[in-house]
Parts: sequence; structure tokens; C-alpha cells
Amino acid sequence: MLCVGIEGTAHTFGVGIVSSEGEILANVSRAYRPPEGGIHPREAARFHAANAKAVLDEALTAAGIRLSDVDLFAFSAGPGLGPCLRTAATAARALAARMEKPIVGVNHCVAHVEIGRLLTGAVDPVTLYVSGGNTQVIAFDAGRYRVFGETLDIPVGNCFDVFAREVGIPFPGGPNIERLAREGKRYIPLPYVVKGMDLSFSGLMTEATRKYRSGVDLRDLCFSLQETAFAALVEVTERAVAHIEKREVMLTGGVAANGRLREMLGMMAEEHKAKFFVPPMEFCVDNGAMIGWTGILAYEHGVRQELEETVINQRWRTEQVDVPWRE
Ligand code: AMP
Ligand code: MG
Repeated sequence: MLCVGIEGTAHTFGVGIVSSEGEILANVSRAYRPPEGGIHPREAARFHAANAKAVLDEALTAAGIRLSDVDLFAFSAGPGLGPCLRTAATAARALAARMEKPIVGVNHCVAHVEIGRLLTGAVDPVTLYVSGGNTQVIAFDAGRYRVFGETLDIPVGNCFDVFAREVGIPFPGGPNIERLAREGKRYIPLPYVVKGMDLSFSGLMTEATRKYRSGVDLRDLCFSLQETAFAALVEVTERAVAHIEKREVMLTGGVAANGRLREMLGMMAEEHKAKFFVPPMEFCVDNGAMIGWTGILAYEHGVRQELEETVINQRWRTEQVDVPWRE
């Protein structure tokens, strides 16, 4: 079975083509980049609509197949930005209706975990999913993917991006902060917020910005921002690992590119005698292949949707998702 997966929760529009054997035949993406400031949902959705056909055509060509070879269409149904989700869903519905093939909506966060399991060989990991739009510690427990900890305000990637913008670090924020952090020499205390198993990054972002304005060295600030944010993320992930006694830790999302976070999380895993996995970056960031693969898992385990049931859900929670393929 071949599945076309369409990702469109935020700034990336992606099409992946995946087989039921787990072979990725194509994975093509284009990302909307706002001319200035943050992402505007309707502008991003317009970008997706304008690029949908070209991305699909490129994916079909890369896979060496025709649309008539596709058996299933999957799309990111949430969580995400409403206008973006609606655009991806509309594309998938149009294709499924025209080709008279089934369609399934996929949860974006679960898809990040499933593509990671497919590509790394991790079986049952505690996953730290950190990106511009999400920050969650996820593990499978009692029949569902559970969120063991998450941000109470902004995602950690967003914390980096907004800080970068405020202090004039060029786009993209994350990698440039990482580069500057390597030259930092001094740790400047910043708000470290862990509440129970949850995290908060907005106070950290505000205080780091304030310290920059009061003249603190930018390299020291980047270093301290990373150390503080990552220590909190590792603490919560570690407590999940210890609590549910998992033997695997996985890191994914765009922030997984960060070498310092990999190092810190890897050390924690080692201390717990857990294996540590990071999927290739192409599949850590938002991508269509993860939607296609999770669509196949769902469909092959009996998940069915009529066209009129393929609604989007901007706030679709990870633990609300049925996962018959893991029961
Ligand atoms: P995503 O939301 O998954 O597309 O990933 C984009 C997010 O990852 C943005 O918030 C980036 O700032 C962040 N990011 C990318 N590379 C790095 C890095 N090397 N260190 C920290 N954050 C990063
Ligand atoms: Mg994502």
C-alpha cells in the first residue's frame, strides 16, 4: 500500500510518499518564511495553497509513481494553526475524492514519534518533542500516548526565535543562538521554571531579553539561555524515564538539531542505562513522510473516516488519539 501524507500544521507544507513496508519513497517540503516578525496563520495558509500542487508533483516525480498508484491519503488534522490545517485537509480531501481512495486524519505529535520509531529502531521510547510550535514529553502508557510534561506557555523553539528577534540575532534564531552560545564564558542566572512535570519559557525569554538591554554580553546570554532551557527539559524527561521505567529516550522536533541539547539528554539517558535516539534531521522537522507513515499505521489497524468526518482539531491532544497499532 502507498500513502501520500500531507503535513500543514504551521509554516511547513510537506508531502511524503510512504509504503506499508515503511519505505519512504519521497519527502518534499517547502516552508513559509514571514517577511518580518512571527508567523501569520492566514499568510502561511496562503503559501501552502499556492505551493501544494508543486510540492505534490515533485514528490510524485521523486517517488517515480503516478497519483493513480496511491492507495491512501493522510493529512495532519491537528494540533496546529487553523487556516494551515484547513488548507492541508482540503488538499487531502480533494485528492481522495477525485481518486476515490480512503483518507485519514493524523495527529501531528504522534506522527513525530511514529516516524522516529520507524527510522531509529526505538521500540518504546520516552520522546522529548521540541520545536517552534510544540514542547512535550510523550510516552506510550496504558494504551495511549500520554503527555508526561509540556510547556504551560510558549514552546522552547519559540522562546529562542523571539529572543533572537528581540536582540537582533539573524534568522534562523535557534542555530545562531547555538553558535553564539559556544563562545559564551559565563553563566548568567535566568528563570528556571519547572512546575510539577510542566515547563514555562516565557519568563526566561523576557528576562534574557531584559538582561541584553541592560548590557549583558550576548554570547554569555545565549549560553545561559540554552543551559537553563535545556536543563529544565532534561529534568522533566528524566523524571518521566524514571517514573515509567523506560529503557529508551528519543529526541525530535526542530530543536533536536542542537548539539548541546543532544549532549545533555544523551548523558541523562546513559545514567539511566537507556538507549538514546535522534532521527535524521529531515524527519525531526515537520514533514509529510511522518503523516503518511502514521496514516498507514492507522488505516492498517482499522481506522476509517468518511470524507465528512475528516474535521481538523487545532487543539487535538496527544492523549486523545486512538493508537490501535500499539495495543
Ligand atoms: P520546527 O518547528 O520543527 O520546524 O523547528 C523549528 C524550530 O527549531 C525553530 O524554533 C528553531 O529556532 C529551532 N531550531 C532549529 N535549529 C536549532 C538549533 N540548532 N538549536 C536550537 N533550536 C533550533
Ligand atoms: Mg512539528
